[in-house]
Amino acid sequence: MKKFLVYAVLICTIFTLVVFAGCTSPEGTNGETGDEVNGEVEGEVSGEVEGDPEKIIMGTNADFPPFEFRNDENEVDGFDVDIAKAIADALGRELVIEDMEFGGLTQALHSKRIDMAIAGMTITEERLEEVDFSEPYYNAGQTVVVLEDETEIKSVDDLEGKDIAVQLGTTGDLEAHERFPAEKIRQYNKINEGFLDLINKRVDAIIIDVPVAERYIEIKGGCKTVGGVFTEELFGVAVSKENPELLDEINKVLADLKESGQFDELISKWFE
Ligand code: GLN
Repeated sequence: MKKFLVYAVLICTIFTLVVFAGCTSPEGTNGETGDEVNGEVEGEVSGEVEGDPEKIIMGTNADFPPFEFRNDENEVDGFDVDIAKAIADALGRELVIEDMEFGGLTQALHSKRIDMAIAGMTITEERLEEVDFSEPYYNAGQTVVVLEDETEIKSVDDLEGKDIAVQLGTTGDLEAHERFPAEKIRQYNKINEGFLDLINKRVDAIIIDVPVAERYIEIKGGCKTVGGVFTEELFGVAVSKENPELLDEINKVLADLKESGQFDELISKWFE
C-alpha cells in the first residue's frame, strides 16, 4: 500500500511538471499556432524582461508594412518601430520588440507580457473597453484589394457572394463580418498569406487598411485597390488601463515628435 502511494505521488508530480512546462513556453499564452509565414519571435521574451524598469516592451505583428514588417536583416522595422524607439529614448529605456499575432496583443497587455501595443491598431469603442489608447497618430481606413485584371468588383458593395480575405481580429475582419456571411470570409493570422491566396485566385478580394494595401501592392504587384477608402480609422498606441502614467508619457512623446517636426520626417521616411 505504501509503495502504491509513493508511485501515485511520483506520477502526480511528473504530470504536474509536464503540464507546467507546456504552459510556460514563450509562445504558450497567446495562442500562436506556428502557422505564421515569418513565425520568428524576437529573441528576448518577456520572461526575462517583464517588469524590468530599464526596458520597455512593444508588442506588434510584423506583417503590416510600412508600419511593421521584417526587413532584410529579419529585424522588425517600420513607422511604428520608429515611434516606439522615440518613446523608449524619451523614457531612457531599452526597446524590446515582441512579434506576435495581432489578436493576442490586448491579452498580452493584460498579462503584462508587453507594455504597449503599437501595431497600426485602430482606436475602436470595443477596444477602449479593454485597453487605453494614446492620442491618434495616424489616419487610415479600410479598402478593397483585387487582382489587376478584375473588372466586376469596383467597390466593397460588389463583394456580395465573393470570397474575401481579412486578417483575424482586425477592423477589416469586423467590417467584413458586418456586411457578408461568415462562410465567405477567410481569416488569416498573416495577411501576407491572404495576398498569396489572392494572387493564386483562391480568394477574390482582401479587405485591409489602405496604407498597407498600397505597400503590399508595391511589393507583390499584380493587384490594385478599388472603390477608395470606406471606413475612417485612427491608429493609437494601446496600453493597459492599469498604466495611466505610461499613457501620459506616450502622449507627451507623440506631442513632442509632432512639435519638433520629427513626426513629419517619419511620415516622409515611411510613406513617401
Ligand atoms: N487597423 C486594423 C485594426 O486595428 C489592422 C491592424 C493590423 O492588422 N495590424 O484592426
